[in-house]
Amino acid sequence: MTAIEDNSRMAPVLLTRNLLGDVNRSRIVQAFCDHGPLSRADLARLAGVPRATIGAIVQTLLDDGLLDEQEPDHSGRVGKPARPLWFGREAGRTAAVVFETDAVRAALVNARGDRLADAAVDISVGDATPSKLAKAVVRAVEGVLPRRGRDRLLGVGLAVPGVCDTAAGVVVASGQIPGAEGDGLTRAVADAVDLPVLVDNDARVQALGEKWFGDGRGVPTFASVQTGVGLGVGLVLGGHLYRGDDGRTGELGHMGVVPDGELCRCGLSGCWETIATLGWLRREARALDLPGAARLDSATLVALAASGHEGAR
Ligand SMILES: [Zn+2]
Repeated sequence: MTAIEDNSRMAPVLLTRNLLGDVNRSRIVQAFCDHGPLSRADLARLAGVPRATIGAIVQTLLDDGLLDEQEPDHSGRVGKPARPLWFGREAGRTAAVVFETDAVRAALVNARGDRLADAAVDISVGDATPSKLAKAVVRAVEGVLPRRGRDRLLGVGLAVPGVCDTAAGVVVASGQIPGAEGDGLTRAVADAVDLPVLVDNDARVQALGEKWFGDGRGVPTFASVQTGVGLGVGLVLGGHLYRGDDGRTGELGHMGVVPDGELCRCGLSGCWETIATLGWLRREARALDLPGAARLDSATLVALAASGHEGAR
């Protein structure tokens, strides 16, 4: 009797032939996101199926322009060199937006991680009103969208420093850009360009970038620390980006690390942000009289130290 009752609670798990095709294609696409360029033999090995099965699925993705054949890989193997497959240039095109202290920057990117177009709109983002900020973001996005075929784009991604509820499309809180709080940015962009818009915390977006295109490729679990005006961390756990409840992860910057430390803009004292961000770096640089202290960043500091500048070292 209990067996019958249990069966009646089973979710429908059978897939139609069409749906099965979609699921298989999406798993192949995921494999490219996780591993980078792969040959058909690599894919067959990863999926545990014969090469002929992979060949048929891959062909549909090549026909759709989602994948491209790359130049053969001659790296010392015996026999016929493998031809790696990788995303096509038109695949997964997305407009991406980041915020700097004095500008909103947009880029058109594809699934290979190429930047196909760039645009910037000068604005002091920290004290911009919500409507001025939204206008600047829309202008930056419009600056990188192609004139034709916009409907083939995946959408627009906004990387905001602050607590972001990605599922709801809401910036819950942002100490650095108060004007970004709420759902005004996502709504303004969606209305202007008629594409799906996603908003996420900038440190988490950086972690996702590392997972797909950087040092995190093929690494199941890692943390990606982002420092700049603020300090945040993105976590990839077991291959998945971790957002936590309502997107409240990664706000590492306001963890107290210096007892009786400097007062932070959040009202607490001794936070990570008081000793590991650009503001701190530039204050130290001014105290040491380094050239270009007001606009110094880590890369310039490293270059200055390499050139033998005593203070920079
Ligand atoms: Zn703080």
